[in-house]
Amino acid sequence: MIERSVESRLEDDLVELRRSLAGAVVEPTDPVYDAARRCFNALVDRRPAAIVRCVGAEDIAVALDFARTRELEVAVRGGGHNPAGHCVCDDGLVIDLSGMRGVAVDPVARIARAQGGATWLDLDTATHEFGLVTPGGIVGSTGVTGLALGGGIGHLTAQLGLTCDSIAAAELVIPDGTFVQARPDENTELLWGLHGGGGNFGVVTSLELHLHPLERVVGGRLEYRGSAVGDVLRTFRDVAARSPRDLSIQAVLGLDETLAPALLIAPCYTGSELDPEPLRRLRVLPGLVRDTVGARPFLEQQLEFDSPYGENRHYWKGHFVDELTDELIDELLVRTAGFRKPVVDVLFESLHGAPKDVDPTVGGIRYRNAGFNVSVMGTWRDVADDESHIALVRETAEAIEPWSFGGGYANYMQADEPLERVRAAFGDDAFERLQALKRQYDPTNVLRRNQNIPPA
Ligand SMILES: Cc1cc2nc3c(=O)[nH]c(=O)nc-3n(C[C@H](O)[C@H](O)[C@H](O)COP(=O)(O)OP(=O)(O)OC[C@H]3O[C@@H](n4cnc5c(N)ncnc54)[C@H](O)[C@@H]3O)c2cc1C
Repeated sequence: MIERSVESRLEDDLVELRRSLAGAVVEPTDPVYDAARRCFNALVDRRPAAIVRCVGAEDIAVALDFARTRELEVAVRGGGHNPAGHCVCDDGLVIDLSGMRGVAVDPVARIARAQGGATWLDLDTATHEFGLVTPGGIVGSTGVTGLALGGGIGHLTAQLGLTCDSIAAAELVIPDGTFVQARPDENTELLWGLHGGGGNFGVVTSLELHLHPLERVVGGRLEYRGSAVGDVLRTFRDVAARSPRDLSIQAVLGLDETLAPALLIAPCYTGSELDPEPLRRLRVLPGLVRDTVGARPFLEQQLEFDSPYGENRHYWKGHFVDELTDELIDELLVRTAGFRKPVVDVLFESLHGAPKDVDPTVGGIRYRNAGFNVSVMGTWRDVADDESHIALVRETAEAIEPWSFGGGYANYMQADEPLERVRAAFGDDAFERLQALKRQYDPTNVLRRNQNIPPA
């Protein structure tokens, strides 16, 4: 009798899988395979056995069942932006939700219902029609669910809180194939866990988010160059610290092509004034070379920043800090000035305002009490630079550590982060509560390609 190879058995099984699905299966021999396995971070180059392009909850249940019976590793793909490349695995099965991008808006209840693969541009475009918004990420192609489950910091954080604070309900397929709802009156503990606990408990087929009225913002970018950048960064810090909650603000420190210090400030003001005082303060500072700040629809603000998909290699590492002390700013100015190429930036995201309002019983995230999220972000093209650029990011992030509030930001973490950093982002009690949920919904840790909460 002829022994059949593992590959040919899987090949037969995939024929069977195809028949059971409404969606499609992409295999390594398919012409679209390379495009389908690509993720945002070109540093990640993995070859799954198959990619299941789901079109509904039933497909997800079939895919989970297929993976379980063949002991294949599972990766879940939403927008494909996670810098750790969690959306793809070697030799396993990718549950690809990119065919599930619908968004329905209920303007009366002020709820958006986004399918599990919807992106921020899908959602913002749909809600914009009704003059409604939810606080999301700043790059349109990022997945709504992937970002929301990990927290979510963006242009409306000070006004409306973290994205997960706006989660109203969710529908999921859990790893044993069961359909589950998490709502204020059903599976409330699971709903709590989805407020920051990531994709650990199930594949979300539909996420409901609260919406808020917003017609226009004063936003755009302020860019500074040269020796004044340090003083501008201090003013940014002071503006953020004293800002009322109608101003969200972020900054990026780095070098320009001539290796001169460069600072970008991205404000988003939602109050009634057209030329608000905190922004006036920033707009008169020395070194300003570009100012696009003005009144605009929120959707336009959401289109201000973009990043090429799957082209650059990325390595990110950061810390939450209580405050941006002068010493920390000086340390980062000296370090960035010493970079020999403009390949590493430092992102400062202010967490003032609404994140602090939220009742801690709503979700387990502890870092909402920090002052800033400070992230060192390396971006480059050449494979030969991998080692040196990753080392540079690590060294720079290490220099921030003495000021660390504890824990890292799950949404920006690489796959090499230790469990303690995930745990510290929640604190021991909340983390143990999340682990209990994990034991209930995914006891064998099928969904482990994420900022993992192990069942035990
Ligand atoms: C260019 C860029 C801009 C970004 N901007 C911001 C920002 O402004 N603010 C911010 O907070 N973060 C931001 N992020 C980080 C982003 O929030 C996280 O990387 C997030 O995980 C991306 O989700 P995704 O669906 O696009 O990614 P994917 O890589 O597809 O998914 C990542 C993980 O999310 C989980 N997941 C995704 N969808 C589902 C689902 N439907 N059900 C269950 N689990 C799911 C899975 O665990 C999956 O492995 C940005 C990232 C990039 C690359």
